[in-house]
Amino acid sequence: MSALLFRGTVIQPDGLLENGAVLCEDGRIAAVGLDVEPPPGAVEVAGDFVAPGFVDIHVHGGDGADFMDGTPEAVATATQAHARHGTTTIFPTTTTGSPEQLEAMLAACTSPGSGARVAGVHLYGPFFAADKLGCHGAEGRRDPEPGEYERYLDSGFVRIATCAAELPGAEPYYRAAATRGCLVTCGHSNASWGEMERAFAAGVRHVDHFWCAMSSVPSVAQRLGTPMQGSMEQFVLLHDEISTEVIADGAHLAPELLEFAFRMKGASGLCLVTDSSRALDMPPGEYRFGPQSDGEPFESDGIVGRQGAVLASSVSGMDHMLRTMLGATSASLVEAVRMASLTPAERAGVADDVGSLEPGKRADVLVLNRELGVERVVVGGEEFREN
Ligand SMILES: [Zn+2]
Repeated sequence: MSALLFRGTVIQPDGLLENGAVLCEDGRIAAVGLDVEPPPGAVEVAGDFVAPGFVDIHVHGGDGADFMDGTPEAVATATQAHARHGTTTIFPTTTTGSPEQLEAMLAACTSPGSGARVAGVHLYGPFFAADKLGCHGAEGRRDPEPGEYERYLDSGFVRIATCAAELPGAEPYYRAAATRGCLVTCGHSNASWGEMERAFAAGVRHVDHFWCAMSSVPSVAQRLGTPMQGSMEQFVLLHDEISTEVIADGAHLAPELLEFAFRMKGASGLCLVTDSSRALDMPPGEYRFGPQSDGEPFESDGIVGRQGAVLASSVSGMDHMLRTMLGATSASLVEAVRMASLTPAERAGVADDVGSLEPGKRADVLVLNRELGVERVVVGGEEFREN
């Protein structure tokens, strides 16, 4: 592996380094600065921006494959699709499904991918609230049982673990996941303030896709009656310890909500996620969300997934989310890139290794053009090329 020297405006967590350079050797970042002497034989790559590879903690598939297809081929296809869009670290995300489908997905994700590096699985479905399923299949939804989830958690491969806070057994699940070092999250939930308080005590520190398939004051009132009670929304906004994420594809949330989320949580408390389905980089048409065998049908119009009037996941990559966030909000380029790289890396517990251009970290480097289009993608010091 020859040394690589990137030249351009380097995007760092605390600012831009104009006319900077990033030197990568042996798959790691060796130096970042203005005067970096390349070793003999180093390959030089110049571009407008040199950015850290993106980190996606909530993502279902791409290029026709869903991770829940549960095969190494699906993992290879989807990880390549996301690498094309600048994601170098990926957390394949489960949907609702049978225990057999979840086990097949976990097993498939241990196979070496061929694009973005799989850093662990986001155990997302199946422990959702029945009234907040979104586009997930109802048949594959259930309450958490230790006999089932401890098998998944003991695989050591689950790094992010979701459950709706109001389900029976949610608290032991949260504690089991927190004990194993997972980022513990509440999602697809109609939880009240009180349920969130108990969830927080049991280890919850994140909430999935803010405003999507989560509780609001009116939805909690519908479930629990009056007096009106606080919901996930108020709980997340009032607790700095809890991070969240937005699907910034421009179709899920209007610009003012993206700006509101950014202003409330800040760049270190808000992650950009793609939540993208298998319809990423595929033509408009009918697809299945979750397993190809029995996943829920949805339609992609090329902009977003839809099940009738309900949105069914994004069909965009992280580069698109970055550009949308920048265009819609007051976030700076440095802040927007942080939300797509270092913040999700920190929340998922992999920031020692990835998420920013700092010496010692993996050589996951992007070259972006002036419009923030992805020109080159380097994963662990190796240039990503389509198979
Ligand atoms: Zn979801």
